[in-house]
Amino acid sequence: MTIQSRCETHDIFNQSPPYEGVDLFTSDPALQDAVQANGAGSDAGELADFGRRWGAAAMFDAARLANENTPKLKTFDTKGFRRDTVEFHPAYHGFMAESMKAGLHASTWTADGSRAPAPSEVSRAARYFMVAQVENGHMCPITMTRACVGALAVEPALLQKLIGKITSRGYDASFRPWWEKDSVTLGMGMTEKQGGTDVRANTTTAMPAGEGYAITGHKWFMSAPMCDAFLVLAQAPGGLTCFLMPRFRPDGAVNALRFQRLKDKLGNRSNASSEVEFVEAFAWRVGEEGRGVRTIIEMVQLTRVDCVISSAGMMRMALAQATHHARHRTVFQKRLADQPIMRTLLADMALEVEGATALTMRLCRSFDLAGSDAKEAAYARLLTPAVKYWICKTAPGFIYEAMECLGGNGYVEETPLARLYREAPVNAIWEGSGNVMCLDVLRALAREGEAAQAVLAGLVRRCGDLPGAKEAASRIANALSSADGEARARAAIERLALLSAAAALTESASGVAEAFARTRLLAPRGGTFGTVDLSVPEVTMLSDRALPAA
Ligand SMILES: Cc1cc2nc3c(=O)[nH]c(=O)nc-3n(C[C@H](O)[C@H](O)[C@H](O)COP(=O)(O)OP(=O)(O)OC[C@H]3O[C@@H](n4cnc5c(N)ncnc54)[C@H](O)[C@@H]3O)c2cc1C
Repeated sequence: MTIQSRCETHDIFNQSPPYEGVDLFTSDPALQDAVQANGAGSDAGELADFGRRWGAAAMFDAARLANENTPKLKTFDTKGFRRDTVEFHPAYHGFMAESMKAGLHASTWTADGSRAPAPSEVSRAARYFMVAQVENGHMCPITMTRACVGALAVEPALLQKLIGKITSRGYDASFRPWWEKDSVTLGMGMTEKQGGTDVRANTTTAMPAGEGYAITGHKWFMSAPMCDAFLVLAQAPGGLTCFLMPRFRPDGAVNALRFQRLKDKLGNRSNASSEVEFVEAFAWRVGEEGRGVRTIIEMVQLTRVDCVISSAGMMRMALAQATHHARHRTVFQKRLADQPIMRTLLADMALEVEGATALTMRLCRSFDLAGSDAKEAAYARLLTPAVKYWICKTAPGFIYEAMECLGGNGYVEETPLARLYREAPVNAIWEGSGNVMCLDVLRALAREGEAAQAVLAGLVRRCGDLPGAKEAASRIANALSSADGEARARAAIERLALLSAAAALTESASGVAEAFARTRLLAPRGGTFGTVDLSVPEVTMLSDRALPAA
C-alpha cells in the first residue's frame, strides 16, 4: 500500500466539475441575442472563436496567477538611481497581449483616429463582456487607451503622431520612449488627494516650458503606471487644463514621474494603481487652457460605458458558476438546481443578467450610432450614467448571492467568485461614483431637457404594454422634475435604468421582457434575489437560457 493510498479515507463525489473549457459566447443565449439585436450578428462566428479561447482552462488559471502575483513597484535600482517602473507577472502580460491582439484597446477607432463604423462598439463590447468574466484587472489600461483617443481628438496633430501606435494590435511592454515602440498604451491621472470627483480642486500646476509645459504636483490614484503616456489635469495660467504626459521627455530622458507607492487594493489586484509626484514633468497641452473638464469628458463617457460592460460580464460569470454548480450538486437526494427555492433564486438572477446584458449592448449600439443619429446621441448621453449606476451597483450584491449558491466552496479563492466579488465594487467607485452618476443624469435633463424627454418617451413606446412601464416613466418624470429632485434621484435613476433594460429586452429577448417588467417595474422585488413571483414555465425558460445543457 502506498503512503498516498493509506491517507485516503474516502471517495470524492458530489462536487461540481470546474467551470472551464467552455465557449463563453455560444453558452450564453442572452449575449448572442443582444449582439444580434444590436447589429453585430454577422460577427457571431468570430465571437464564438473568441469565447472558446477565453473560456479555456488555461485562461482561468492565468487569471488566478495574474491576481495572486501582484505588481511590484521598483522605485530605485540597486545603486540608488531612480527606476520608477512596475513589474508584472507574465500572466498579466499574456492578458494584455491577448486583449490588444483582439483590438479591445482600439477597434472602435480607424487608422486616422475617427470613429470606426457600426457595429464596432457592439462587437468590441461582446468581447470585453467575455474577457471581464475571466480577468478584469488588465482591462484598466485597455479601457483607458481606447478612451483617451476621444479626448486627444481636440489636438489632431498630436493624435496623428500617436494614432498608428495606439491602434497597433501588438503589445510592447518595454520601458522605452514611445517613438521607439510599435504600440503604446495610455493612462490617466485626474484624482488628487483633496478630490477626485471635484477635479476643479486640483492643485497640480502647469507652466509653459519650451515646446510643452512643466507639470508639478501629484496624483493620488494613477492606474496602470507602465502606460507610455497619461492624460492629466493641471492648473495652467488659464485654468484647469488637460495634458498628455509621456513617460519619456522628447530628448529621450526619463520624464519626472516619481511613483511613491502602489495602492494595496481590495480587488483589481492584477492591475497596478499608483500614487505619483510630478516634478516639472514634461507634457503637451490637450485642448485650450481652462477647458480641461470639457476635454476629458470625451474620454469619461467611454470609460463609463466600459465599467458597465465589465460589471455585466462579471455578473454573467457569477450566474454561470452558480447555475453550473447547482446542476451538479445534490442535497437531500435532489439536485440543488431542482430545489424550488434555488430554482426561483437562480431564475431571478438569470433575469437580472438578461436585463443587464440586453441593456449593455443596447447602450453600446447608441455609441455606434451617435455620430449620425441625434436621438441615439441623446440616448447615450442620458442613459450612460443611469446604466452605470444600476449595473455597477448591482454587481457586488449579485456576485455575493452567486457565491452563496456554491456554499462554502464559493468563499474560497480557488473558485473565481471570491475574486469577482472583490473586483466588482471598483466599477461603481471609479469614473464617477453612484451619487455622481445621478447628478450627471440630472445635468443631462437640465441641459438637454427636450432630447432627454424624447429618450424617455421612446423607452415608454418601446415597452408598449409591458406591466408597470408607463407608471415607472411617470414616477421618474415626477421625481426628477420635483423641487427636491436631487434628493430623490437615486430611486428615479434606478427606475430609469430598469425601464431602459425592459425596453432593451423587447428588442433582443422579447420572451423575457414581460417577466422583467412585471418583477422590476410593476412590483419591485425585495432586497435580495429570489423574492419574485415567477411562473414554472418562466423559471424553466430562464434556467435553460442561463446555461444551455451541454
Ligand atoms: C482601484 C482604483 C483605481 C483608480 N484609478 C484611477 C486612475 O487611474 N486615474 C484617476 O484619475 N483616478 C483613479 N481612481 C480614482 C477614482 O476615480 C476616484 O476615487 C473617484 O472618482 C472618486 O473620487 P474620490 O475618491 O475623490 O471621492 P469623492 O469625490 O470624495 O467622493 C466620495 C463620495 O461622495 C460622493 N459625492 C461626490 N460628490 C457628491 C455630491 N455633489 N453629492 C452627493 N454625493 C457626492 C461620491 O459619489 C462618493 O460616493 C481610482 C480609484 C480606484 C479605487
